[in-house]
Formats: sequence, C-alpha cells, structure tokens
Amino acid sequence: MALIVQKYGGSSVANAESIKRVAKRIVDTRRAGHDVVVAVSAMGDTTDELLDLANEVAPIPAPRELDMLLSSGERISMALLAMAIHSMGFEARSFTGSQAGMITDSQHGAARIVDVTPVRLREALDEGAIVIVAGFQGFNRDTRDITTLGRGGSDTTAVALAAALDADVCEIYSDVDGIFTADPRVIPRAQKLDHISSEEMLELAANGAKVLYIRAVEYARRHGVLIHARSTFSSSEGTYVLGEGMKNPREAEGADMEEPIVAGVATDFSQAKITVAGVPDVPGKAAEIFKIVAKSGANVDMIVQNVSATGRTDISFTVPKADAAAALKALAGEQSEVGFQNLVHDDQIGKLSVVGAGMRTHSGVSAVLFEALSAGGINIEMISTSEIRISVVLRGDDLAEAARTVHTAYGLDGESDATIHAGTGR
Ligand code: ASP
Ligand code: MG
Repeated sequence: MALIVQKYGGSSVANAESIKRVAKRIVDTRRAGHDVVVAVSAMGDTTDELLDLANEVAPIPAPRELDMLLSSGERISMALLAMAIHSMGFEARSFTGSQAGMITDSQHGAARIVDVTPVRLREALDEGAIVIVAGFQGFNRDTRDITTLGRGGSDTTAVALAAALDADVCEIYSDVDGIFTADPRVIPRAQKLDHISSEEMLELAANGAKVLYIRAVEYARRHGVLIHARSTFSSSEGTYVLGEGMKNPREAEGADMEEPIVAGVATDFSQAKITVAGVPDVPGKAAEIFKIVAKSGANVDMIVQNVSATGRTDISFTVPKADAAAALKALAGEQSEVGFQNLVHDDQIGKLSVVGAGMRTHSGVSAVLFEALSAGGINIEMISTSEIRISVVLRGDDLAEAARTVHTAYGLDGESDATIHAGTGR
C-alpha cells in the first residue's frame, strides 16, 4: 500500500463526463489499496474565463480580489469531484488550499509556498477518506488572505502535497501521454520518454517545453518527490521525472541502463531579439544596457556581443515577446547617455535547444547540431550553451524544419508518428 498524490489538469475535468471519468480513476487507485490525495485544477478554461470577466469589470483588477475570484475555479472542481466519488460509494472530502495547510507568502497572483501543514488531510486519510485539494491556491498567515500560485500552479500544489505527506509518487495527469523527446505537434516522430532526469526536464521546460511547470519540477527536485507525468485518457504509463539519486521504478533491480546522450529537443517561438547597434566598445557599456533592460522588467535570455573593428560593437539579446516593448522603450529613453547608434527589434525568431545530461561526458554533441543545421541550409543567428544544453536562435520560419532535422540527427525519431490527442498538456 502506497500513498499516491494525483494531479488532474483542467482538460481532465472539463465537464461532468470527464469529472466522472477522473473519479473512477481515483476510485480504482483506492480499490488497489492505496491512500489517495488529489490536487485538482479548475474545469477546462475556467481560469481564463474568470480572468476575462475580471478585466471586463476593472481594467486593473485588485490583486486580492483577483485571487478570491480565481481560487473559486478550483473550488468548483474539487467539490464536484468529491461528489462524484461519493456517488460511487467511496468516502471523499474536499479541501481548499487554506484548509489543506498550503501556506504561502503574500504575493497575490504569484505566491510561493513557504510551508505545508496538512493536518486535516492526515486526519481524513486516517479515517479512510480520499482527499481532494483545490490546486493553485494558498493562504498567507500575515495578511490572512487567499493567494494563488500563478498560472499552472496546481502542478506545484500536487508536488508540495507529495513532499509534505511523504508520498510514494506524484502522478501528474493531463491530456498528453507523458514527456516527449520534442513537441509532437512540431516533430511528429517525437517519442515518449520512459524517464528523464529533473535537471534535463528543467532545461527543457525553461526552453519551451510546456508539459510540466518549472516551479513544480524545481520543488520536486528540492524535496525529492518522484513525478510521474501521464495521460488521463489512457492507462499506459507515462514518464518518470527522476531527481538526483532516484531510481527509475520500472528498471529491474540492479539493471544499469545506458542513458541516451540527448534527452530531447525543445522549440520556443515566444522570444524576440533586440539588437543595440553601434555601442561604444569601452568598459561598462554592457552593464549600463542590461541595467536599463532589467529595470524595464524584461527577462533576458540569450546575449551575444560582436567583436568590434571600428571601436563600436553590436549587442543582441533575446527577451519574451511580451517584454520587448518595455525594454525597447527603456533603452530608447537612454540612447544618448549610453551612446549607441540604433535599436533593432526582431520578433520573427525561433529558439531551438538540445538538452541532455550526457553532454557533460561526451564530445562532439554540438557538432551534430551544427552539421544537421548546415545540411538543412539553416542559418544560425545566436548560440548559447549550458552544461547540458545547446541553444540556437534561427529564423522563426525555419524552426520547425530545423527541429525535425536535428531530432533525426540525434537518433531520437520514433518508428511511427506520435499519437496526439489534440491536447495542450494541461
Ligand atoms: N487553473 C489554474 C490555471 O489555469 C491553475 C492550473 O491549472 O494549474 O492556470
Ligand atoms: Mg487551467
């Protein structure tokens, strides 16, 4: 008998029919003899609809009230799910984030979990009940207000519950089958991974993969939670996300499987490139530029500086498309102080990243990437690397084709096309 935490995303509980299907799945787990704690998201697009409503009544909704509003989405699904389980003859009890002891800081809309005190959940489990917790929300002790954890926060709720209750596994259910070597909508030959290390998962998520939220993976890594990402719509096993020193539960005792060098290829269409052209090539200019950009609130990703032949140089960097306007405005306002010649904004770029822990110990990994791109006649505009990742910026129009070529070059292609359930992964 194990303690299993399950998280169901919005697409898994989009209507009454799906809620009943999820209830059955939960009951099956209980029947198999396990204790079950469930974190549930709001039904379907409820959160987006509530956000739209808020924006209709107020241009800038008050953050405290917005959290009151958004947290209600998960209260609907948790109660309905508990009812559905009840009607199947099983004891289920739903709890809001605050009832569940999800203690956060006071940052409305982006609260961080600071403590989990699941006293009531333990009691309910001890009494044999299935526990349902509203995802995405918590409670701040100082303000005594309800908070939300930011979009996609139910993943983090589930992982935090698993850590606090010392669960055996945290199963994250969505409408995709697990973690793939690439986004199957971009690369049809992408394959489902049996397992992936949490550090590789973090790099993939940070570079465009959308199946799991970064904060949930980080939390799991820090607290030693085993994540199993799988589909609500099939009974097949998904992908295990393994933290440091964790063993793949599917691996036979003692079996030492050779890890692939590259775990996956991520594609990201969400970045824009800004070039600050004709920057005086003297000490301190990069500091000035990136201080201005930071003050605008833009989150810089890749940076490239050219050599200067003329005493001036160009500095290019990427930021999320949504941050570009603010960064450009801030830079333009300080043009004469910094002394650069002009600004170029390019939002037609795409970023391709290859991630694999094997890069640490294998040489020639980047050469495979560059050769594949060269054979495809694809031009590279920027390059950056981390210990386990190589990223390149390309023309956005080239990204899908480049990703397919590179996926093939690393031997990641499956034998047939991946099944896509038209899902979003949420
Ligand atoms: N309902 C919230 C959202 O849509 C939280 C979640 O789904 O995890 O962002
Ligand atoms: Mg949602």
